[in-house]
Amino acid sequence: MQREQIRNKIFRKIKRVVIKIGSTVLTNDKGDLDLKIFVGLCEQISRLKERGMEIVIVSSGAIAAGTKQLGLSERPKTIPQKQAAAAIGQTRLMWNYERFFDKYQQKVAQVLLTHNDLSERARFLNARNTLVTLFNYGIIPVINENDSVAVEEIRFGDNDNLSALITNLVEADLLIILSDIEGLFDADPKENKEAKLIPVVENIDEGIENLAAGTKSTVGIGGMVTKIQAAKKVAIFGVPTIIAHGKKGNIIDAIFRGEAVGTLFLPGKEKLTSRKHWIAFTLKPKGTIIVDKGAKDAIVLKGKSLLPSGLCSVKGSFSAGDLVKCVDEDGCEFARGLVNYNSTEAFEIMGLKTHEVKKRLGTDACDELIHRDNLVVLRRT
Ligand code: GLU
Repeated sequence: MQREQIRNKIFRKIKRVVIKIGSTVLTNDKGDLDLKIFVGLCEQISRLKERGMEIVIVSSGAIAAGTKQLGLSERPKTIPQKQAAAAIGQTRLMWNYERFFDKYQQKVAQVLLTHNDLSERARFLNARNTLVTLFNYGIIPVINENDSVAVEEIRFGDNDNLSALITNLVEADLLIILSDIEGLFDADPKENKEAKLIPVVENIDEGIENLAAGTKSTVGIGGMVTKIQAAKKVAIFGVPTIIAHGKKGNIIDAIFRGEAVGTLFLPGKEKLTSRKHWIAFTLKPKGTIIVDKGAKDAIVLKGKSLLPSGLCSVKGSFSAGDLVKCVDEDGCEFARGLVNYNSTEAFEIMGLKTHEVKKRLGTDACDELIHRDNLVVLRRT
């Protein structure tokens, strides 16, 4: 299929879209919020709304907007300063979205999240209900990390990855990441004039991840690395991502006209369920278990559960119900899952057959270390 045809086919069908807008898009060279950009984005997003699409914005820019307000000349470095900048900047950000969307008779709602808000299944589903209710009222949710209260343990880290989790949360059918770069290049365009934009990525493999490594942003958090991580998480959910330059003309209009702008990351062939996506990517792993080849093959090739007999080693301290990484004997992570035993018990039953586990821990002990319903395969090779 021709490239334009691929784009047309994808963009024609979009009903619900997550648009992540980076700090570098929303600010100018002097570090001030760029109001012309706000107006342009609000206008284009309003057009999508009028066409019947449901939109979630994941907006960065709170810290950038607050930096000037605090009288600082560069992005704050200490955590209290960052949190103070986010607190003052977030209201500025929302004020601008509110007044510019108002011109197009669109309403916005602010949703600030920490990782804790999504890491419990019930809270995750509750957040989904809130967002769907906002859609039903025709309101555009504007999401950001709740930077002014988030400490390391409860942070998402960057808004690129957050936007991937939001794509699952609202079950969107497209993620758009707007940044200050056209997309993914075959070399660093800041250092190499010959660097060429890659229009379509079919599969985010190591080669693609390596291309992204080393790029950095001074205004926001993520460089290209976090964008590729986000696109990968979204592809595994069966959804495409487009990374494009948010300051270039009417970029959102151009995307939906199917023009050859940005880099389009095609969706993966298999689609993880929302719950499995949540297990693998919204939860944070608490430990690692090392699995032998036989058990790995049974999981990867036959979709089986992981039994204690296939366990070779245990790293870290985790409780029953936590997320753990499943790593093969070469150290390669191939799956993640919710473990039925804590780390001490897991260590105790390492390599044991089911009847031996029951003898050691009692007859009601689970047969599986990780049940296949709670196990997500990340790599098949
Ligand atoms: N939440 C941060 C902010 O609003 C930005 C995070 C990011 O750029 O990834 O400033």
